[in-house]
Amino acid sequence: MPDLAPNEEAVLRDYPRLGPDNALDFHCGKGLDCFTRCCQDVSIVLTPYDVLRMKNALQLNSTEFLEKYTLLGCTKGQKLPVVLLKMNAGDRRCPFVTDEGCSIYAHRPWACRMYPLGLAEPMGPHPTERGFYFVIREDLCHGHSKGSQCAIRDWISSQSIETYEMMGEPFRNLMMNDFWEKGEPLDPSKLEMYLMACYDLDRFRRFVFETRFTQIFDIDEARLEAIRSDDEELLVFAMEWLRFSLFHEKTMKLSRSAMESLEQAGAQAGVASETLR
Ligand code: SF4
Ligand code: SF4
Repeated sequence: MPDLAPNEEAVLRDYPRLGPDNALDFHCGKGLDCFTRCCQDVSIVLTPYDVLRMKNALQLNSTEFLEKYTLLGCTKGQKLPVVLLKMNAGDRRCPFVTDEGCSIYAHRPWACRMYPLGLAEPMGPHPTERGFYFVIREDLCHGHSKGSQCAIRDWISSQSIETYEMMGEPFRNLMMNDFWEKGEPLDPSKLEMYLMACYDLDRFRRFVFETRFTQIFDIDEARLEAIRSDDEELLVFAMEWLRFSLFHEKTMKLSRSAMESLEQAGAQAGVASETLR
């Protein structure tokens, strides 16, 4: 999967726009002379759900995983850093590739599953434009036109991408907010908060349970129990908290005591108290 993010302008201008019913003629497997060549010197952007799956598969906590296997990258014009899978220092190969293929195949990232499909999702100023799939063709990949036609929807299904799409929805909603288009870049403390809630889930869990968080917010017992023990529940919760904290959406409710303190002090806690009701 060499560079998985072709130039956005080129995609919108040059690439045929495909839907789930269009055909894809692609086959990938050990018999091909290009096998695993794509797992080298490649930029793979990890989603929060990718990190969750990979760190659990490797039985690492999220902080260890991020330190060992990722780096932060910035792309021109974007206000937020992206989390990238770190290639080996010497040969620039993915740390998970072996002669037999991907050693974390069942938990490989979304971008690896999708390849050679790309997904263009209009953001910002064109909210009504529909997303579409496009096919990435690169010289090193010999899997195209092998007479293995299937509908794109079947390809998506065969790669178990639906789970990733479902679990990626709260993050996608967060990223679609026009705050990123119109607002100021995050200050360092908010950026830290964003990175923790999206990617460093085990640290975020400690933040929830080992600070005054649960006294400040009104969270029912069943939800607390779910986020204590289930990473997927925690990730959904983390996205709600970010929308509350960054966009002032009413996705969280302050506890009675926190509201009283706010009102008494007439103070602000990042959000004016009247907007929290
Ligand atoms: S995670 Fe697996 S599929 Fe993706 S680049 Fe690494 S070895 Fe290849
Ligand atoms: S066919 Fe393409 S995706 Fe599959 S191993 Fe070869 S280069 Fe990688």
